[in-house]
This record gives sequence, structure tokens and C-alpha cells, in this order.
Amino acid sequence: MKKYDFLIVGAGLFGSVFAHEMSKAGKSVLVVDKRDHIGGNVFCENINGINVHKYGAHIFHTSNKEIWDYVNSFVEFNRYTNSPIANFKGELFNLPFNMNTFYKLWGVKTPEEAKAKIEEQKKEYSHIKEPKNLEEQALVLGGKDIYEKLIKGYTEKQWGRPATQIPAFIIRRLPFRFTFDNNYFNDTYQGIPKGGYNKLIEGLLDGVEVNLGINFFEEKEKLTSIAHKVVYTGKIDEFFEYKYGKLEYRSLHFEHEELDIQDFQGNAVVNYTEKEIPFTRIIEHKHFEFGKQSNTIITREYPHEFSKDNEPYYPLNDDKNQTLFEKYKELANKESNVLFGGRLADYKYYDMHNVIDVALQTVKKLVDNEE
Ligand code: FAD
Ligand code: UDP
Repeated sequence: MKKYDFLIVGAGLFGSVFAHEMSKAGKSVLVVDKRDHIGGNVFCENINGINVHKYGAHIFHTSNKEIWDYVNSFVEFNRYTNSPIANFKGELFNLPFNMNTFYKLWGVKTPEEAKAKIEEQKKEYSHIKEPKNLEEQALVLGGKDIYEKLIKGYTEKQWGRPATQIPAFIIRRLPFRFTFDNNYFNDTYQGIPKGGYNKLIEGLLDGVEVNLGINFFEEKEKLTSIAHKVVYTGKIDEFFEYKYGKLEYRSLHFEHEELDIQDFQGNAVVNYTEKEIPFTRIIEHKHFEFGKQSNTIITREYPHEFSKDNEPYYPLNDDKNQTLFEKYKELANKESNVLFGGRLADYKYYDMHNVIDVALQTVKKLVDNEE
């Protein structure tokens, strides 16, 4: 008996957008998640009036107006703009790399002076035409001082390996600009849902049947039998029982602390870019929503090897893993009744807006094909 059109594995953003859109198109859907809450990694827990980003700080940003209008149709967003501070050996720098950073590093006051200084810093690396790894890419972009003070330590902690073994594209996520603009993103739209991310997910899953605390692999046969199609948003290698070997991920360990003070660090995000401090950043959650509470909650974020006991947060998209992923992708393409989507199944460093975009496109293709 096929009770549902779609069984959706994962109540994260991909699963929730897919479920919402398919329900709207008149299909019957069931969402299951092994966690005891919806939202996947954007889930927030409200602790004494503060929305705590339980799986790492999430800032929504996009240049796609359709995606921005889409998320705003479920919840209004505030005007939060991410402007992290970097702490290197007790000295504070603005991020991303901009005139404020350059002024602090070298005392340069105009874009012209900054460009001249960076040219001088980059000269040593002019022989690198096509950066092969993150270290080369960072040196070619900004030269030695920026790399050594603001990138190397953070990156090697975050990824648990030398920067020479990390893909170059990862550092190109960060803007590099010659204006006094501390906005971490270049996108047109940015903010945090008023009242937290759970509002967005609750809006998406309104009226959708959701069963929590269910691991798909423990009830695979039964769950597969009740739906015409499965939408799977977990790890792709796990779906195929690691048949070709395990894909590598990076994990994190979070230490939350509630403090009886109003403000711990005056900013939502402070990165610790030196190697000797074991965490990469401290998040002070109230600042995402301009909280005025008398208490505060901070989270130290420690990078961690991924194992079966923690979460696969970041795909490690180096050549070796990418080649392995392609093999799984071939198997996935042969599964006629299973669709794969989201950060874990696509093994991609997707931001939230990317995931929503892909989920919307996936639904559209399916609905268009039916018509
Ligand atoms: P997920 O949120 O991982 O959801 C997958 C769901 O599937 C999970 O709930 C999981 O429990 C469930 N699942 C997996 N396997 C099974 C199974 N076998 N049975 C049942 N359920 C299963 N993006 C931004 O745009 N801005 C940011 O600032 C930002 N910050 C981030 C910070 C961190 C630390 C991390 C890790 C990510 C960040 N992202 C950010 C990315 C963002 O989290 C993702 O793009 C998005 O949440 C991915 O949604 P998803 O549905 O693909 O995956
Ligand atoms: N990065 C860095 N120094 C910083 C912040 C980031 O070197 O202070 C590098 C690091 O390699 C990181 C990458 O830039 O993995 C991407 O940073 P982003 O903030 O986009 O990472 P995410 O939000 O996904 O954790």
C-alpha cells in the first residue's frame, strides 16, 4: 500500500522546502528525521529567551530576489549584517579583508596605499599562476601578512590539515575589497529570521506530516514501501552502505555557556585565527537578533575529526573525495525511485540559499514533467 507520494528523509531545509512545495502541488508527503527536532542544521534552541544556533552560526544571505521573497513569505527577516572580528594573539581585526583590516595591519589609509602594500606583499608569489591549494590561493590574493595572521591558523584548525592540502575555492568564499565595508558577504540581501530559524522551518512544514526520531536505515524497507518515491537528504555514502569507501567530512564540537552579564564580546562572531587557541570562533547568539536580555549565551566552536559519533558538517571537497563522490553519484543516478538532495547527499559546500534554490528547482522539474 503506497500511502504517500513522497517519503522525505531529513527535515532540514532541503526536505522542508521539498515537502512544502509538493504538498502545495497536491502530493501527499511524509517527512522523517532521526533527530528529535525539525530544521536540520539551522535549528535553534531557545534558552532563557535567546535563540541558540545549536549547529553553528547561520546567517542568511542571497542575491537571488526570488529566494529572498520566498523565505520572507514565511517569516520576516531582520537587518542583521554579519561583520565578524578576528582576534589574532590579542589584536583585533575587521573581517572580511577590507580597508579597516589593511589599516590595522599596515596603517594604510587609502585604497591606493592598500593596493600598493598588497602588491608588495604578493610579489614573492607572482610565479603562482594557478593556485593549486588554499595556501597558494590566499598568498596570491592577499600576500603573506594576511595569510599568516588571519588565514593560516584558522584554516588549519578548521580543516585539520595543512592549508596546502585544502581546496583553493574555500578561501574564495570570503570577499576581498578596498572599501571600509565590514560586511562579510557581497550579497544583495541578508538577515536573520525575526524570532529565529525555527519560524522559517515551522512555516515550511505547516500542515505537513512529520515523524521525528526515525532513522531511515533502521526502517528502510517499511518506509520505502509506503511511498512511491523517496527523497533522501542524508549522507550519500551511507545510503550505499559505504560500498566504495567513506567520504570525508569535517565536524565540530560546540561548548555553550550561559553568562550572567549583558554583553560578552559586543559582536555575534569573533574568530580566533591563531593556531594555539583550540577553538575557531566564539558566537554570542543574542547579537543575531539585537537581544536586550540581561544574560547572554556564548558558544565556543571547536573543529573536530568526523566519526560515527558526531555530525558531518563540512564536506571535504578535495580531488580524492570528489572522485569518490562521483562514483556514488553514478549509483544515485541509477536509482529510479530515490531522489538525492541537500548538502550531504550532493556532497557540496552549499549555503542555505543554494539548498533552497536546488530544492525549488527539483520540485519544479518534477511537476513540469508530470504536466
Ligand atoms: P541538513 O540541515 O544537514 O539536514 C539533513 C537532515 O537529514 C538532518 O536533520 C539529519 O538529521 C537528517 N538525516 C540524515 N540522515 C538521516 C537518516 N538516516 N534518517 C533520518 N534522518 C536523517 N549556510 C548559510 O547560508 N549561512 C551560514 O551562515 C551558514 N553557516 C553554517 C555553519 C555551519 C557550522 C554549518 C555546518 C553549515 C552552515 N551553513 C550556512 C550551511 C547550511 O547549514 C546548509 O546549507 C543547510 O542547512 C543544509 O540543509 P540540508 O537540508 O541540505 O541539510
Ligand atoms: N577563514 C579564515 N579566517 C577567518 C575566517 C575564515 O582563514 O577568520 C577561511 C577558512 O579556511 C574557512 C573559509 O575561510 O574555512 C571559509 O570561511 P566561512 O566563514 O565561509 O566558513 P563557514 O561559515 O562555512 O564556516
